Amino acid sequence: MAAAMLSCFVAPALMAQTNSTYDAQFIDWPTYNGSDLELSVDNSGTHFKLWSPKAKEARVNLYENGHTGKAYEVLPMKFNAATGTWSVSFPQKLYGKFYTFQINTDGTWLAETPGVWAKAVGVNGNRAAIIDFSETNPEGWAADKGPEVKNFSDVIVYEMHHRDMSMHPSSGIANKGKFLALTEKGTTSPEGLKTGIDHLKQLGITHVHILPSYDYNSVDEMNLQDNTYNWGYDPLNYNAPEGSYSTNPSDPKARVREMKEMIKALHDAGIGVIMDVVYNHTATNDDSNFELTAPGYYHRHRNDGSYSDASGCGNETASDLQQMRDYIVNSTKYWADEYHIDGFRFDLMAIHDTETMNQVAAELKKINPSIFVYGEGWTAGDSPLQPERRALKENVSKMTDIAVFSDDLRDAVKGHYTDAADRGFATGKPGNEETVKIGIVAATAHPQVDYKKGQNSKFPYAKSPEMIVNYVSCHDDLMLTDKLRKSMAGEPEENMLAADKLAQTIVFTSQGTPFMFAGEEIFRDKQGVHNSYKSPDSINAIDWSKKAQYRDLFNYYQGLIALRKAHPAFRMTTAADIAKNLKFDKIDSSKTPNLISYSLLNHANGDEWEEIKVVFNGASKAQTVDIKKGDWMIVANDGQIDPEGGLGETQGGKLTVAPYSALILARR
Ligand code: CA
Repeated sequence: MAAAMLSCFVAPALMAQTNSTYDAQFIDWPTYNGSDLELSVDNSGTHFKLWSPKAKEARVNLYENGHTGKAYEVLPMKFNAATGTWSVSFPQKLYGKFYTFQINTDGTWLAETPGVWAKAVGVNGNRAAIIDFSETNPEGWAADKGPEVKNFSDVIVYEMHHRDMSMHPSSGIANKGKFLALTEKGTTSPEGLKTGIDHLKQLGITHVHILPSYDYNSVDEMNLQDNTYNWGYDPLNYNAPEGSYSTNPSDPKARVREMKEMIKALHDAGIGVIMDVVYNHTATNDDSNFELTAPGYYHRHRNDGSYSDASGCGNETASDLQQMRDYIVNSTKYWADEYHIDGFRFDLMAIHDTETMNQVAAELKKINPSIFVYGEGWTAGDSPLQPERRALKENVSKMTDIAVFSDDLRDAVKGHYTDAADRGFATGKPGNEETVKIGIVAATAHPQVDYKKGQNSKFPYAKSPEMIVNYVSCHDDLMLTDKLRKSMAGEPEENMLAADKLAQTIVFTSQGTPFMFAGEEIFRDKQGVHNSYKSPDSINAIDWSKKAQYRDLFNYYQGLIALRKAHPAFRMTTAADIAKNLKFDKIDSSKTPNLISYSLLNHANGDEWEEIKVVFNGASKAQTVDIKKGDWMIVANDGQIDPEGGLGETQGGKLTVAPYSALILARR
């Protein structure tokens, strides 16, 4: 969330602070991180174990259902000072029952909470549920596996919201707005074109990145007929799926089973599932499950004890404290284990410290080396955490197997996100050439890229292209279609479509991992709404009839993706390889702006093509490039693409590149 809005880089000198004196009191608290935290069920019964080192008393309330009625039993818990945990056991398997914890601090019983480790919950997530997880597995789950990823630069990310994909009547999908939407095969638009999961397969992306799908706060699961929309960046229960995406939020097993069915269907289609995770803040402050179990501990504070707010949402969490760090690590491990999740996108990742992120990646790698971890390398406000410890974009090289979004390419290609009318390289504005080049080389050191001229970044912050996610638009801010409509107002739509193709050609041919937003491939728009986090479906849902209307655009995206997948030259894995094999042609941007030309040489990264020539003309007029003589196949030209290079042949020399377009040539 919020993210892109706040991607400005504040110089560290302005933010230099130490962690607050208030939070120093938590450092010595005992910690406990066994997998039996809060609930475990075995043949000896049901066991509760709550971490709350400073509580005076603690108890478990047992319920027959997830929402109504009084506790049928209240179990007092016993304290273990060494681990800071409170325990009680019940000599039966309490499957089907619900529970809450309650702690007493200084003579006051706090409100009930399902705890922080509820893996199943009742409606609206107020009570935790005791279920047998083996009963939630779809057929064939034991053998289920996501796609194997050799290098993270092989991943092609498609960011989507469950409702966006399926709510529109034109989706042809029955389970609208549900996890199950992506299990439906054979769905089509009114014009008979593929939608849903078939569409994803047809497009060729490798991974979907699903917007928050853990249980969040903002949608009332008891009134789903209201069709309330929310992105879900307001976490409630981090380890249970969101109820409104299930067919029955009151049945704790339904959301678990249906999310697994979605994952299984995507895996069966060869598509990985990346989860958007928001450990950086909680939906509420004092009422959050963190505060109700261990008051003070999990959030950061200012020296005066008030909540610090690097998330811009009222609070921020404290990954620098051991119990919170372990919580993040163990929670992601849980999703990888129980749900076979293939990647994690960390919201406002720079609120977390680099050490935590390194542990996350290292532990996930043990479960599945194909798991891809990336995040927003920025915060949305100042934090007590010292800048050098933050998982910032600028600190990505302090981390291993973690990637960050590059706002460099994003802003340089389509214009700055803060100014709707601002244009970028692909829409005719001069002066962005060097910043686009930073994106092309995935922010790695390159002898021909002058980082001093970079608009967002002033140094090659990535040690490896696998640390960079390149994109021009996502759920935040004006999406590409709307940005083009606002910034190119007055020009014919064909120019916008040309610029759209050019912008994504830059993303999909750049080194690093490409990322796109759902529906861009069919020129979907959000009617100019730049922050649609709670806009109705009428703004957010993808109108699938646009697939027929913009079939040419879809074909182009499909071709781009096929080109990238077929050619490892676009997916180099080391900075040294890029410096050696990627050569920019000399172009004086002050004389011929909006023109970039480069070669991928030496059968780069094992490519069958000896040389690939990539030319971008972001000007509103045609421009000429001088291409070395040779037997070139034409791969892309003037809004057309053929990944096999079948658009004709040329011998090089002076070639004209159409306005707002890419020219890609290759020779064997
Ligand atoms: Ca919820």
